[in-house]
Amino acid sequence: MPAGKVFLVGAGPGDPGLLTIKGKRAIENADVLVYDYLAAEPVVALAPPNCERVYVGKKARAHTLEQSEINALLVRLARDGKNVVRLKGGDPFVFGRGGEEAQELHAAGIDFEVVPGVTSGIAAPAYAGIPVTHRDHNTAVTFVTGHEDVEKQLSTLDWSKLAAPNHTLVLYMAMGNLASITTQLIQSGLAASTPIAIVHEGTKPAQQTLVATLGTVVAELERVRIAPPAIAIVGDVVRLRDELRWFDRLPLFGKRVLVTRMASGSLEFAARLWEAGAEPIMAPLIRIVPPEDTSDIARAVESTNASTYRWIVFSSRNGVDAFWNELRARGRDTRALGAAKIAAIGPKTAETLAEHGIIADFIPSRYVGESVAEGLLERTKPNDRVLLFRAQEARDTLPQMLRDGGRNVEIVAAYRAVQNDVADLAERVASSDVLTFTSAGIVRSFAAQLEDPVAAARGKIVACIGPITAEAARTIGLEVSVVAEEFTTEGLARALIAAPMLH
Ligand code: SAH
Repeated sequence: MPAGKVFLVGAGPGDPGLLTIKGKRAIENADVLVYDYLAAEPVVALAPPNCERVYVGKKARAHTLEQSEINALLVRLARDGKNVVRLKGGDPFVFGRGGEEAQELHAAGIDFEVVPGVTSGIAAPAYAGIPVTHRDHNTAVTFVTGHEDVEKQLSTLDWSKLAAPNHTLVLYMAMGNLASITTQLIQSGLAASTPIAIVHEGTKPAQQTLVATLGTVVAELERVRIAPPAIAIVGDVVRLRDELRWFDRLPLFGKRVLVTRMASGSLEFAARLWEAGAEPIMAPLIRIVPPEDTSDIARAVESTNASTYRWIVFSSRNGVDAFWNELRARGRDTRALGAAKIAAIGPKTAETLAEHGIIADFIPSRYVGESVAEGLLERTKPNDRVLLFRAQEARDTLPQMLRDGGRNVEIVAAYRAVQNDVADLAERVASSDVLTFTSAGIVRSFAAQLEDPVAAARGKIVACIGPITAEAARTIGLEVSVVAEEFTTEGLARALIAAPMLH
């Protein structure tokens, strides 16, 4: 078997948006992903479902591998012919021991590539509003590890050479030795009033920034207690934060938002939350499965060819998927729809239809069944045949309104949204500030999986995509404080950004 290849990939500092395009491609093509605790969860989640995931450095856990064991693991996996991604926080070659791993691979004759990442020493200051160089302040920057015990004779760092005005120092892994480092810098000639910033969990919604001086920082840290991982920045550039801070001013900065939609539908929403400064906590409470009886889909798809239906209504993108999957299985394509007019309940459904070359003839202005019914009643005559392609558990309002108007309605249960068990749901809920719900089924799944859903939601902001979901949430006893005005996840994100109780 030919040996595989190892990609040493930088995952970036935490914000998943800072992963490089090349890094993303490497992860998506991986057979095995070897990663440690600094690699962000959404980045790890990019690996394909069949990719084997190996944790090697979960900080507080016992099964952390020694560096030599990691090296041996990479070599063994590659010899097994695997395409291996070794994912490392920040940049693999900046204080990440990526150089050592590459040397081992070279010595073993294994092919490798390095995909640089955005290093925390640049990104954490940037997200704190601190440029590491600035013409008016600092014209040089040095990246230093603070991990060495500076009081030992063994130290290879000469702090007196690093201590220069107009010279930014960026210290990685410095928290443990900060007292001796600051003392050393002051003894080497830096003013005790030189500003220093400590940025904890940089680029993440949990980011915390402390600004002090070399003389005061140790005492300040006694007070605020900032744990690793943190980057320390020493130099006048730190003062620019007053003007340039931006990340911790984002509208949802620091808020932890439970995202309960099905996994495949939630990535866009999660990305939107990140952009607003929030941390999405993923807990997909439903998943989509075929209906119990698929013969209705088959029959409906079969009979579309004779333009049997005047209108076909899709109430979600899952319905669209079910329809075209069935068409494809029959070796047919979009032309099967013939002259039928098409309605989509909302913009996402319309977008999915457009992928199949269909421009929806009708999208209501409010994305609920009632509005679809009103629009269709205007556009049809009594006895016109209308086909509804929708969820098995959908409400009866839409077909009932059409039938009351004398329309000939045929309902196809195209898919089912069923409860998806989330093993650590209680912890995820407990760690969230905001709970989002995007369907009544999701609310029911939430209630079914928690011992006391009302207690679990107490003190949290409950946000719903629209009035029907909100009603379902109230029915299980939740107090709903945010309801989107546009019934889409984008509308829900906007409602959260505008919600006064979140600021
Ligand atoms: N290769 C990584 C550094 C690994 S050393 C990189 O290029 O970023 C581990 C140290 O990196 C931590 O002790 C801390 O100093 C720093 N670090 C990593 N991620 C960080 C983050 N999100 N915020 C602040 N510091 C971080």
